[in-house]
Amino acid sequence: MQYSIWMNSRERNKDDWKLDFTKLQKAGISNIFLSGKIEDLENALKYAADFNLQIHYWIFTMICNDDNIINQHPDWFTVNGLGESSLENPQYVEYYKWLCPTHPEVQEYLRERVKKLCKISELTGVHLDYIRHCDVILPIGLQPNYNLIQNKKEPQFDYCYCEHCRSSFQQKSGIDPIDLLNPSKDQDWLKFRYDNITNIVNMLVEIIHYYNKKATAAVFPAIMQKNVRQEWHKWNLDVVFPMLYHSFYDAGLDWIGNETRKGKQLLKSTELHSGLYIPSIGPDKLIQAIKFAVNDGADGVSLFDFNAMKDEHWKILNS
Ligand SMILES: [Zn+2]
Repeated sequence: MQYSIWMNSRERNKDDWKLDFTKLQKAGISNIFLSGKIEDLENALKYAADFNLQIHYWIFTMICNDDNIINQHPDWFTVNGLGESSLENPQYVEYYKWLCPTHPEVQEYLRERVKKLCKISELTGVHLDYIRHCDVILPIGLQPNYNLIQNKKEPQFDYCYCEHCRSSFQQKSGIDPIDLLNPSKDQDWLKFRYDNITNIVNMLVEIIHYYNKKATAAVFPAIMQKNVRQEWHKWNLDVVFPMLYHSFYDAGLDWIGNETRKGKQLLKSTELHSGLYIPSIGPDKLIQAIKFAVNDGADGVSLFDFNAMKDEHWKILNS
């Protein structure tokens, strides 16, 4: 049984790292998914070994807000069923600018990005987040935040109809997906998008494994696979971390157990560690949430995130 945590590396000096790493070690947490600048990652790596902590670099894989890429390669971004680019018209939140997994130059860019990270010898692994398409339908508990009621799939939120995807699908099927009468029901068109995400994951996993690093990913719960085009049970990962954020689905803690069990049933050799949403789990409920995951077969749990952990949460883990 392993404990992991998601953490942002920002604004920590040497003493801060040591203080926080002591906290993690005392709580029995062994894996950290660290996001942030490479310089901060390198600093963290200097001290992590002293605390027996494994650091995985946490990347927002298909999301891209890099100005150089935005300026030079606007054609790398996904396009919705209305023909709008996620670069110019991001849905839900401003940073939802998604790269198209089908574009060969995007694939090359991601390969190089991951290769560079894998050359950092002290790094344990690469953690792929946002490895999907934009949500066609948001989790039910989040829709009110955007004043939305999404009970069917609308073209505005349905990606990717970029030139590249359209011609590539047309070559395979003889149909331009923009001409489909009911694209949300077309199994071949759905499969095309699942497969393109699966291909990119397995391509990156091959590089990560070549460098003897661990390949992991944060994914949506099994019930949401369709809405974000993630068939993560087909990915060659070492560990999958479904974000079992019960409050996003208006569910109770027992739902964590149900979704853990469903996820385990889909997988063969890949481990499953259940992701827990700390802002919705009071310290008095933390052990219960962990038990729901473990009793239904989780190989570990991961906490989202470090900043959400209150003193009382740490106390519970230390006891
Ligand atoms: Zn595309």
